[in-house]
Amino acid sequence: MTNIEGAGVRRSLVALSGVLALGLAGCSDGRSAPVSEGDVAGLPISHFESGLKPAAPEPDLDVTNVSSDEADRVAVATIADVEDYWSDALPGNFDVKFEPVKSLLSYDSDGENQENGCGDTKGNANAFYCNVDDSVAWDRGVLLPTMMDQFGPLSVVTVLAHEFGHAVQYRLGDKAGISRNTPTIVKEQQADCFTGAYYRWVAEGKSKYFAVSTSDGLNSALSSLFLVRDSAGTSATDRSAHGTGFDRTYAFQIGFEQGPTECAAMTLDSIQPRLTERPFDSGDRDGDIEVDQEAIGLLKDSLDQAFAGAKVQAPEIVDDGASCPNGSATPPATYCTSDNTVRIDLTALAELGQPVDQEGEFTGSSSGGHGDFAAFSEVASRYAMGIQKGVGASLDNANAGLRTACLVGAWAAVAAQEGQQMRLSAGDLDEAISDLLRPDSLVAADVDGKPAASGFNRVEAMRTGYLQGSGPCSTQYG
Ligand SMILES: [Zn+2]
Repeated sequence: MTNIEGAGVRRSLVALSGVLALGLAGCSDGRSAPVSEGDVAGLPISHFESGLKPAAPEPDLDVTNVSSDEADRVAVATIADVEDYWSDALPGNFDVKFEPVKSLLSYDSDGENQENGCGDTKGNANAFYCNVDDSVAWDRGVLLPTMMDQFGPLSVVTVLAHEFGHAVQYRLGDKAGISRNTPTIVKEQQADCFTGAYYRWVAEGKSKYFAVSTSDGLNSALSSLFLVRDSAGTSATDRSAHGTGFDRTYAFQIGFEQGPTECAAMTLDSIQPRLTERPFDSGDRDGDIEVDQEAIGLLKDSLDQAFAGAKVQAPEIVDDGASCPNGSATPPATYCTSDNTVRIDLTALAELGQPVDQEGEFTGSSSGGHGDFAAFSEVASRYAMGIQKGVGASLDNANAGLRTACLVGAWAAVAAQEGQQMRLSAGDLDEAISDLLRPDSLVAADVDGKPAASGFNRVEAMRTGYLQGSGPCSTQYG
């Protein structure tokens, strides 16, 4: 967030009040198209161990320099699996004959140099599609094992399915609108979308190699997409932009929900209006502010203004250790129904709100900070409980969690507008999504702190509020 300094200049927020009023009034009626916590884009919520199936067949593929490492086992199975998927999906959806990639290369970026059409591999901790020789290559020495340690085997599946998505793009050519001048962001969005389409096929139980549950399994796939996001402050028009975590999870979800033809139809014009990647505004510094008493005061003002239209008594925010005399405590922030207060543990919130260490997150050495906006979102979510209580909505079921995430998204959109004293800055939305996908996140949790089981639904709920305002929060999560 950005705190506009020297702010005796209180910019006017009045014009914005009422923005979040409409939907909330409908909390107890108007239930068109409700989303059930019992499904994820039409598939039942499943709970089982996700990853390589114990009885997976031995892939029949030629891979240069392959080892017997676990990372290679998962990588080679992924290639075999995505080839299975696309050998039906390409002719089925696009009337294009499937051709496997011409070569595959496993290497250790710390070990002996290998070479392919795109050059040397020494020191290149990466996984990539190389269009020069139509090959896919991956670093089994550093990149893959690090990802697996942090996010489990599905991170490898996610990254290589994405890289294979680029190979698919070259096979589709015109049919995906791809030319020499296609901006990187379009290619990346399509590849993430193709990854989502493939994951749906796996989640439907059609893969010989992998099992993915629609709860923890998909959560892990989404988190690993997030891992390879661009750094905050990258412009979406940058030639090498890959999209923010927010943008990337969106593309993945479109593929999962609507299939590969929607992915191929993405163009710069169609995606630009929803892309959130933007450079830091001047004066944002690095986009993180201290989570302290003053910031909580600004947050309270921002929330009061944003939710004024609901015309209910706004909850007070009290720093007293997140305990509630007559209700569940959900530290670091608790909504206490008995006296309509949000009780916070400011020290714990400040810790959660430490800047994100993207490098450390990757290597596992991060202090665990999720950024200021993660901390503010947690508080905002408990505040939104108070607003929901005020309009008579249920607070203790999965829909309450998703509705809350939606309202936090709607508030974030107000906070993104010009002239806010506490304003959303580049990278903030990714902090919220990274927080949302944590198992103990409050942002999509009910009043007792129980999060909605599906991270996929949590992310979608917050995005819905962010892009469409509070209206759908009550209609879809009634
Ligand atoms: Zn890519």
